[in-house]
Amino acid sequence: NKLGLCDTDLLRDRGVIAGVWQEADSGERFAVTNPATGAVLAHVPMMGAAETARAIDAASAALPGWRARTAQDRATLLLRWRDLMLDAADDLALLLTLEQGKSLAESRGEITYGASFITWFAEEARRAYGDVIPSPKPGSRLITIKQPVGVVGAITPWNFPNAMITRKLGPALAAGCTVVLKPAEATPLSAFALAVLAERAGIPAGVINIVTGDPVEIGGALTASPIVRKISFTGSTRVGRLLMAQSAPTVKRLSLELGGNAPFIVFNDAEMGPAVAGAMASKYRNSGQTCVCANRLFVEDGIHDAFVAELRAAVDKLRVGHGVEAGVNQGPLINRAAVEKVEELVADALAKGATLVTGGKRHALGGCFYEPTILTGVTGDMRIAHEEIFGPVAAIQRFQGEEEVLRLANDTEFGLAAYFYSRDLGRIWRVAEGLESGMVGVNEGLISTEVAPFGGVKQSGLGREGSSIGLDEYLEVKYISMAVG
Ligand code: ADP
Repeated sequence: NKLGLCDTDLLRDRGVIAGVWQEADSGERFAVTNPATGAVLAHVPMMGAAETARAIDAASAALPGWRARTAQDRATLLLRWRDLMLDAADDLALLLTLEQGKSLAESRGEITYGASFITWFAEEARRAYGDVIPSPKPGSRLITIKQPVGVVGAITPWNFPNAMITRKLGPALAAGCTVVLKPAEATPLSAFALAVLAERAGIPAGVINIVTGDPVEIGGALTASPIVRKISFTGSTRVGRLLMAQSAPTVKRLSLELGGNAPFIVFNDAEMGPAVAGAMASKYRNSGQTCVCANRLFVEDGIHDAFVAELRAAVDKLRVGHGVEAGVNQGPLINRAAVEKVEELVADALAKGATLVTGGKRHALGGCFYEPTILTGVTGDMRIAHEEIFGPVAAIQRFQGEEEVLRLANDTEFGLAAYFYSRDLGRIWRVAEGLESGMVGVNEGLISTEVAPFGGVKQSGLGREGSSIGLDEYLEVKYISMAVG
């Protein structure tokens, strides 16, 4: 059972600690399944606190050697790792589609995107400059240097099984940190494959350790450990809050990339073609399972009906199916629970007066498939307006005027991404500045790139990933004051 990979060695079913691939102490395993078919792909170790403690020790042991290398040296290894990822892109994409469900085309895109973080941070590693500060008193020199934070605990979600790992490991390793990674239970195989390639690239044992298993135990061990100096997490706001609380006793650094409730606003003066294309990309990419997916679409009165008609025409062209099949662009949701959540949200909206334009039920393919859906007449009293849908449902609200829509858009505890379409320059500035979010797409629906800061405000998180400031999340500034006589 090699899943059709060319390089079958990329398929691993064990965790890795100090360079040794290993089972759980208990010997227990859990199944990784293909959400499109329900087929079991592999069984991976059900590890817990004890294995996590050993992984932390391994990362700690590897730290002095890794951080002592020159940035150039680490960059060379990272770029070798990146090259191996790109060489193995077809296999990595296949593995990703099999365990996560997205189309092969999207998976290939994710591998390229994932690799871009390694490239970027390998380059940035060499620019972790300090400062010389003009001294306020004679006879002293004030200097800052930047040093790696230390051992990092990274916890990643299943919706981007490759890129959410490289976005953390790229800057961590570039800065000179070592890592204990806990990938999501649904998608550990992509993580293991990355570790195989890291090993081949010559990244030393113990720099990347991976544990799979009980999230509560592993998260508990990572946060409780005084050796772990930072937690970098991407996932739900609920778990983010928990990790933040658990990190308080040891005062850890935190990067938290949490839930979103992105508004996608179409003003009357928007250009229709790009607005529809942007909504399609922002809403239906990964079958709606991204934290920056348009969660609430606000369409102004004058353009509303025309926009809905065009969006519907585009949605009806989507092809739902197994991600490995050519031409498919809508895969399944990650599991049954995700389908049930979408069903509940849609039922609640319909019961409270929303109108179904298209879709609205499980797909005929069964299993985890749900029909691409559009609802109109959505209002603030519906759950769908406040909760992350994480599914292929466009929930459209009608509005009148800038003031009203800004108030509605900001009426959420989340603040990750926001999008709007307008051609009025004054409005573009006002709305871009007025939206309470970490990222704003103006006349575009896809904004993620390794060169720009990704992150949220309010309860969408702390810190930024990617960009020239992304490396700082893994560095401490040390101030050195020198009396020179
Ligand atoms: P989602 O709803 O997208 O699955 P989660 O926040 O539950 O989001 O999952 C994101 C990551 O957090 C996964 O790797 C998951 O295993 C992990 N996780 C879930 N619960 C905990 C916890 N109590 N402590 C640490 N990590 C957790």
